[in-house]
Amino acid sequence: MNLRQLFQQHLAPTSPAPMNLEMVRAEGVYLWDASGKRYIDLIAGFSVSNIGHSHPTVVQAVQEQAARYMHLMVYGELIQSPVVSYARLLTSHLPTELDCVYFTNSGAEATEGAMKLAKRVTGRTKMIAFHHAYHGSTQGALSLIGDEYWRRSFRPLLPGIYHFPYGKEEVLEAIDQSTACVILETVQAESGVTAPDPTWLQQIRKKCDATGTLLILDEIQAGFGRTGTLWAFEQMGIQPDILLLGKALGGGMPLGAFIASKDRMHQLSYQPVLGHITTFGGHPVSCAAGMAAMEVLLSSGCIDRVKEKEKFLLQTLQHPAIQAIQSAGCWMSLQFASSTLNQQVVHQCVKNGLLTDWFIFAPDRLRIAPPLTIEDEVLEEVVQIILRSIDEVTTA
Ligand code: PLP
Repeated sequence: MNLRQLFQQHLAPTSPAPMNLEMVRAEGVYLWDASGKRYIDLIAGFSVSNIGHSHPTVVQAVQEQAARYMHLMVYGELIQSPVVSYARLLTSHLPTELDCVYFTNSGAEATEGAMKLAKRVTGRTKMIAFHHAYHGSTQGALSLIGDEYWRRSFRPLLPGIYHFPYGKEEVLEAIDQSTACVILETVQAESGVTAPDPTWLQQIRKKCDATGTLLILDEIQAGFGRTGTLWAFEQMGIQPDILLLGKALGGGMPLGAFIASKDRMHQLSYQPVLGHITTFGGHPVSCAAGMAAMEVLLSSGCIDRVKEKEKFLLQTLQHPAIQAIQSAGCWMSLQFASSTLNQQVVHQCVKNGLLTDWFIFAPDRLRIAPPLTIEDEVLEEVVQIILRSIDEVTTA
């Protein structure tokens, strides 16, 4: 059996139609498959590779830390410098109230930890989430997912979770003194990059304050410069009580985090003791990689150019078949007349050397989320490939 057949035979699938490309190398904004074909990466591992693939500084940090030590002990017992240093770096770029980091292995685990923390701190169980929300695939996070199609087969899920339309005022009335938390993506990812009106977020913040409800912002995709500022909430005039990070947090290594105030976070260490535990969360190699990536991100100046790149894409991605564009920095979705047409365009783009796909709740939208370091000439090539691919599909 060749590698493709072994992949199909021995790896659990997540869909009936995986991309099925065998990638052998990745560097910067490019991926190469086994035949030597080069692809521009317009997904960046779903906003993981914000500084591009295999950045030499990150590779070096991984190698050095792996040579020093890898796993030593479960989370939270030993003082491990890459973990402490990264927590320090993160919190130094966050509002002062967000001064305590709980590192996890993944975004979903960050969501789980935050849900538990909200219950523990407030003594309440009601939670509010949104239609078309995605916060992870574990049972608790899945209870928050904003569409019944994805929940139905896994019921019973967590009780006491109420879903409301994202961006609409009707949620405000539902936030009351029995609500533990409101959890939402600062910019909603899988509905096709939906940026809310900041006023709506400010109203939610106000209602949370008035009722003692914790506001959890999920920036697992939106964080690390994707929307043009280090954190998307900086553009919204609010700050969360708990921030969820993942994806780019690990610089290409698996890492998630929920971040809150020290006072709140400490409540996970008593009643019960070990209120939240993990073996590998905050792995020292992941933290070394994540910290190196964040330092590169901050020193490269690429976040400052995100809005400019967004403007260029919005100006140049003009085609009669593109019905609408939603965007938030170097992150956007192009809407086509149907999901079938979008799939055809996506496949044509891949054929033409541009790796892209669609969105969980918006199969009629094409994803644009390149590494933020993408050069102007490559961005021009991206636009040309998309427009050519649309032409090839629509005139075929
Ligand atoms: N939250 C958001 C907004 C996400 O996009 C994702 C993953 O796609 C998650 C949470 C879950 O992260 P992970 O896949 O690392 O569990």
